[in-house]
Amino acid sequence: MAEKYSEIQTRIRAACERAGRDPATVLVLPVSKGQSADAVQEAAGLGLRIFGENKVQEAKAKIPQCSSRLQWHMIGHLQSNKARDAVQMFSCIQSIDSLSLAEEVNKWAEKLSKRVPILLEVNTAAEASKFGFSPANLPVEAINQLPRLELQGLMTVAPYSSTPERVRPYFKKLCELRDECSDKLGAPLPHLSMGMSGDFEIAVEEGATIVRIGTALFGPRAYAKKENAG
Ligand SMILES: *Cc1c(COP(=O)(O)O)cnc(C)c1O
Repeated sequence: MAEKYSEIQTRIRAACERAGRDPATVLVLPVSKGQSADAVQEAAGLGLRIFGENKVQEAKAKIPQCSSRLQWHMIGHLQSNKARDAVQMFSCIQSIDSLSLAEEVNKWAEKLSKRVPILLEVNTAAEASKFGFSPANLPVEAINQLPRLELQGLMTVAPYSSTPERVRPYFKKLCELRDECSDKLGAPLPHLSMGMSGDFEIAVEEGATIVRIGTALFGPRAYAKKENAG
């Protein structure tokens, strides 16, 4: 894993150089879904401190087995009836995909006396199989008014392609949308969470501040792929 992590860092540095960016502005978020607590421990030994999970149930079982010094981001579709657990477990919810979910998270944050950093998930390629706001209908102002939420930026899961270059337009689009939203709000939205194992270099070239990396760091997952569900 140390070798894989070092290779990922080298590739991120190279992408930053091509784009004239500072590599310190790119966070590698190891995605530990389908990986054991031991694998998380090994990654923590490499200095990684924030991990991504896509299911509340799996995170609920795994987090107590891991060091309490770690933080966790929710990156998968969140059902409203799990908003309470999510507010308790995650230091950021990257996958806010409806106004009603944002309201539910805000409600629980209030009850639990928390503030919750969030990103809005955008379905940049309008794929029927994916969650996320349509780019044309992003209720940033309404969400920004929810007092317990800290809107920090946007997230997208690009379509899968064996030719990563093909997904560049979706990353560009997310970056443009982020700029439009911060203009609208008159406040900076610092984060763009985009890029996964197959396409993170292109995402970094297009401005990603968080790349979500699973298999390129941990190897294959323990279960069959059913991404973005539950
Ligand atoms: C699984 C997952 C990832 C990581 O995918 P890899 O291709 O293994 O890097 C990133 N983002 C989300 C939302 C995911 O569900």
